[in-house]
Amino acid sequence: MDLPRVVIIGGGFGGLDAARALANAPVRITLLDRHNHHVFQPLLYQVATAALSPGDIASPIRWILRHQQNVEVLLADVRTIDPASRTVVTDHETLPYDYLIVATGAAHAYFGHPEWASRAPGLKTLDDALEMRRRVLLAFEAAERETDPAAQRRLLTFVIIGGGPTGVELAGALGEIARQTLRQDFRRIHPESSRIVLLEGGPHLLSAFPAKLRDAAGVSLRQLGVEVRTGTAVTAIDDDGVVAGGERIPAQTILWAAGVAASPLAASLGVPLDRAGRVAAEPALNLAGHPEIFVAGDICAFVQDGKPLPGVAQVAKQQGAHAAKNIRHAVRGEALEPFHYVNFGNVATIGRGAAVVDIGPIHASGWLAWLFWLFLHIFWLVGFRNRAAVLGEWAWAYVTLQRRIRLITGGQVWPVSRE
Ligand SMILES: Cc1cc2nc3c(=O)[nH]c(=O)nc-3n(C[C@H](O)[C@H](O)[C@H](O)COP(=O)(O)OP(=O)(O)OC[C@H]3O[C@@H](n4cnc5c(N)ncnc54)[C@H](O)[C@@H]3O)c2cc1C
Repeated sequence: MDLPRVVIIGGGFGGLDAARALANAPVRITLLDRHNHHVFQPLLYQVATAALSPGDIASPIRWILRHQQNVEVLLADVRTIDPASRTVVTDHETLPYDYLIVATGAAHAYFGHPEWASRAPGLKTLDDALEMRRRVLLAFEAAERETDPAAQRRLLTFVIIGGGPTGVELAGALGEIARQTLRQDFRRIHPESSRIVLLEGGPHLLSAFPAKLRDAAGVSLRQLGVEVRTGTAVTAIDDDGVVAGGERIPAQTILWAAGVAASPLAASLGVPLDRAGRVAAEPALNLAGHPEIFVAGDICAFVQDGKPLPGVAQVAKQQGAHAAKNIRHAVRGEALEPFHYVNFGNVATIGRGAAVVDIGPIHASGWLAWLFWLFLHIFWLVGFRNRAAVLGEWAWAYVTLQRRIRLITGGQVWPVSRE
């Protein structure tokens, strides 16, 4: 008998947990991803700031699922989905499905300014992280060669746009690089005099956290020398720097940690999308009119208790597993179950030894919170080797204040030409 064919698009948090939750189910699974690896995105900023190597936070999807006999993994870029014919069109072939899980995540969004992308790269993939690392390290190198004080100042100014967890983590790590890691490495410049500016358009940093923890994060950032500006919207990004709150900030390095929009694949499903391009899902995570198509993770717009669920890993993992559970129900001819998210809390770190933790009644900041953050991330990483490698790197960095992976790769030219 032919087993039902499940196609899962995306080997991120949602897709991977969906595939795993279908282990031993009477289905044939094809998991498609345009990358051959799963990335632990919460630690991407550590690759971007030279603390970890790409291999420490990513693993081949094929390897992760090697023991699961009912799944095949294909490296493929999905171009479109045709719900009418129940097919998925990739860059190589057209694949039929009986059940489909779309878990293709999100992409950067520049608030209607796509031209900002080349000047202010975002952080989503390993390539993005390596590009950020390249720009940051290259700025210090160029400053060491520069003789004009104003140009040198501009080269040593780093602007991070977006005061969510990623922006806060990037700013904290850049503060450490400038004030601690590179202190003794240069002869003509003083890296510790670098200007690091964190811009947030809204009234608060870390808006999902309680006020006390938001304040604690601001204090930790200022201790690292980060200039925090909330309520400051960016209106222009150009070759010279940024314009924010009506003020021009000359800067060579601008990093984007602000907007995200759902994967463009959402549009091919032919159902209503929300303002961020996410698919409005039914309570069981399937699509209205298409009970065989499920969405999970950042691509899924799901409202619970009157509020949309955030684009975080826990939501994606729980939705991926739930979509899989409902496919098991559907295969057996049973009714589908509605999804309910269980929030385990929020954590964010601000450099070495400081973090904020908001888990149920526990609201903590400081060193203990950082230790909790550290072990939580080690626990969630995929693979023992990665866990051991990351723990080793962090222990070494904690003691020495060093960031070992300070390698400039991908050429030594600026991404935008300057006269
Ligand atoms: C820098 C950063 C830091 C973050 N920090 C945290 C954090 O601290 N805590 C937290 O909970 N969450 C964090 N998040 C959010 C979390 O990583 C996402 O919510 C989660 O990854 C969403 O899972 P997903 O499965 O929906 O998508 P993803 O994990 O993004 O996976 C999508 C997968 O789909 C693949 N794909 C996309 N389009 C196609 C296509 N057309 N064809 C084939 N394959 C495709 C991609 O290659 C990718 O593997 C962070 C995100 C980022 C970017």
